[in-house]
Amino acid sequence: MRLYLINPFNPLVSLADTKRSRWNRYRVWKPLGLLVVAALTPPDWDITVFDENLSVPDYDALPRPDLVGVTAFTSQANRAYEVADAFRRRGVSVVIGGIHATMCCDEALEHVDSVVAGEAESIWPTVVDDARLGRLQRVYAGQHVDMAEVPPARHDLLKGGYAFGSIQTTRGCPLNCSFCSVSAFNGNDYRHRPIDDVIGEMRTIREKLVLLVDDNLIGTSPAHIERAKDLFRAMIQARLGKAWIAQATINMGDDEELLALAARAGCGGVFIGFESPTAEGLAEVGKKFNLRKGRDLRQSVQRIQRHKILVAGSFIMGLDTDQPGIGNKIASTAKTYGVDMLNALFLTPLPGTRLWDQMKSQNRIAANDFPGDWQYYTLGFPTAHYKHFSWSGILEEMIACNGRFYSRWQTMRRIVGNFLRRRRPLISLASNLSYRNNARLTQRNYGMLDVLQGGRGAIRGG
Ligand code: SF4
Repeated sequence: MRLYLINPFNPLVSLADTKRSRWNRYRVWKPLGLLVVAALTPPDWDITVFDENLSVPDYDALPRPDLVGVTAFTSQANRAYEVADAFRRRGVSVVIGGIHATMCCDEALEHVDSVVAGEAESIWPTVVDDARLGRLQRVYAGQHVDMAEVPPARHDLLKGGYAFGSIQTTRGCPLNCSFCSVSAFNGNDYRHRPIDDVIGEMRTIREKLVLLVDDNLIGTSPAHIERAKDLFRAMIQARLGKAWIAQATINMGDDEELLALAARAGCGGVFIGFESPTAEGLAEVGKKFNLRKGRDLRQSVQRIQRHKILVAGSFIMGLDTDQPGIGNKIASTAKTYGVDMLNALFLTPLPGTRLWDQMKSQNRIAANDFPGDWQYYTLGFPTAHYKHFSWSGILEEMIACNGRFYSRWQTMRRIVGNFLRRRRPLISLASNLSYRNNARLTQRNYGMLDVLQGGRGAIRGG
């Protein structure tokens, strides 16, 4: 039995286009979910994983598979359906999983034979057995699993082309930000993989650089922090020889022991969601956690950086509390906090989030010609009716933000500063140039939006 597992591309996500910018190689990760699905598949299946981010195969020229599995974030959904439709025209059964199909199950069922909703671990062996017997069900409901049931991903199935390997150590997040679908998909129950499993899988990753894909590596409670310390101690003891980056909350800067252990374990950088430069904005998105106990965000960033860990700060633009000038405000706030990279994103109502429910009820979903418009849901394009901005207005804010933070002078200043402080200079160089280049590529893609071409007037924001 032959199984193809496919990660669809999105033509607008320039960060995945490694041909247009070699720096983007540092922003493309292996599709870890498919590699876990491969590990759950019985050994008599012949599995090939295709990551369209690296190249799009001519599927017609390949041997006909018995089953196709596709995964998709929302921004990949349209391409996932194209791939599924093409295989089904050839009489091949197609199963889709992942967060978008879980949240938009009825839509996905128009293009596939089956949807795996939720986490695949509890149900995938049944899916492949049913496929073998020709009795696929329409929907398989995956349950939240005990993380001890997550097998090591089949990293051997995707070789070459990636700067980073990837691994997951926790699932879920104790917080519940309005724009985020992690809790809807993985639940509020913050779950940990057994540390031995993580270390064992780490050893199978060829790449020296690794992305820990956890939505929140360290968690928020004292028990979460202790578990993170135990993980880092085990990584140190195992002498893995990897440098890794991860997503975490700003409380990472509260604990010197945690930071010292993370650095010794190979932590080279963390993505931290600052979300908004204002207290009102943080309240709007449900992340007052950032300011808990009067936290000084600049000092938190500096404490992390003192351990030679870079900080990439993420901010969202287009909140109801944002006013004209927000682009410059985010850039200057990011500079004040002293982050090494800035990741500015448009407020995007993703299916499954509270934000989606709210904007849908208020008729504010502007890019709504689905499934085609899902391609704009990368967080790099405006998709909603924003309270204080037209689309052209918010695009100008984004251009101003990136232009200021990633000006040649500011970018050089950060890179040289990190060289002089010996703070991960190569990661700083690659990341800054990648972000800078990606901002320019994405800006060029803005011209594809109908609103700028005077096209679909009905979806103007404002
Ligand atoms: S802290 Fe991050 S992962 Fe957790 S709910 Fe907020 S955005 Fe999602």
